[in-house]
Amino acid sequence: IPNEFHEALPILQKIESAGYEAYFVGGSVRDTILKRPIHDVDIATSAYPSEVKALFKRTVDTGIEHGTVMILDHGTGYEVTTFRTESGYQDYRRPDHVTFVRSLKEDLKRRDFTINALALAENGQITDLFGGLSDMRKHIIRAVGDPNERFNEDALRMMRATRFASQLDFQIEDATLAGIARHSQLLEKIAVERSHTEFVKMMLGTDANNGLKIMIQTDLYQHVPVLSHYLNQLQQIAETDFTLTNEVQIWALLAFKFGLNSQETASFLKKWKTANKIINDVILTVELLFAIQRGQVANLTLYRAGSENVVNAVTVLADTAKTAGLVERYEHLAIKNKHQLKMTGGELIKRGILKPSPQLGEVLNYLEQNVVAGKIKNETEELVKAAVNFLNED
Ligand code: ATP
Ligand code: MG
Repeated sequence: IPNEFHEALPILQKIESAGYEAYFVGGSVRDTILKRPIHDVDIATSAYPSEVKALFKRTVDTGIEHGTVMILDHGTGYEVTTFRTESGYQDYRRPDHVTFVRSLKEDLKRRDFTINALALAENGQITDLFGGLSDMRKHIIRAVGDPNERFNEDALRMMRATRFASQLDFQIEDATLAGIARHSQLLEKIAVERSHTEFVKMMLGTDANNGLKIMIQTDLYQHVPVLSHYLNQLQQIAETDFTLTNEVQIWALLAFKFGLNSQETASFLKKWKTANKIINDVILTVELLFAIQRGQVANLTLYRAGSENVVNAVTVLADTAKTAGLVERYEHLAIKNKHQLKMTGGELIKRGILKPSPQLGEVLNYLEQNVVAGKIKNETEELVKAAVNFLNED
């Protein structure tokens, strides 16, 4: 039993000694049984939110309308959620109403997949009402109850199934897979941000190839932004082994294989509501990828990309013959950023070479580019000479 559970045991005990039930539930139980590292420990209880709050000194209402209260305990926060059923789901996402109930069984019933519907009691006993343990042994993702109903209730579950298939290296059970294929279109009802999160986790999973194949096979890819236009490329990516370690690499791989220029890449990623910082890095990584592909990697391209994106490009391409020596070349650049240039605007003015003017930026850019290209040494006196020459040439 992992440490995270040990540390949270007093919370379970306190709730139980007040006469309620409390269990560990969700991903942490699943991952523990699968001997995978766990992150957050979720607790489910028969106590109502007000009853939970009455038991503990320090709580935060993190999701009180859904029955979730966070208990703060020695610097750790534990989400404690009241057993609940859900109803409504009028728009294929999130329930209209949650109803708090006292029955563990009702709470487990509303969960998405059998492997996520296990409860672990304080004494180590596992409640497994839907065959989650057996599915775990068989490496199967199976909807709790009728898959068609469950995907109709909440279409995000289809992306979650795909994500778990990739993360856990599991297969989706036939009826569940058929349910996804049948309801894939409902994914369009889901906020892009939520599909985005699941897609990223899927692509970073150990069997992302399988995840992509599932998205293609079930038509899910047609109901997320942009991917529908690139079926051939997606199939190719799905057939080729890849191992990615961050979000930038995911989008860079796709944009590169789709053959997108910077503008197209930005528009692609905006449709996925990707963070601007990520979009910038993807564009730089893709520019470098195209340069590598052409066999023409200028120092300036490496410099602009920056060290992380050089590594991103090398990882995405996964072709050591083409990327050999690139990281070393980056490490040996004369400067890594413009602050390392042994010349500033102030210095140029002080030496009377230029007055404050827009031309100052031009001169500094010229110096920066030529130092990176290896044409000018990064030494103050050399840079002064080069600046004077540049201005005279004009
Ligand atoms: P992770 O390891 O990524 O956190 P997780 O299974 O814990 O995976 P969470 O999103 O943290 O995923 O959800 C916790 C639990 O809540 C799930 O294990 C599942 O039982 C339930 N759950 C989450 N999302 C849904 C959903 N859309 N429909 C039904 N049950 C869900
Ligand atoms: Mg979780």
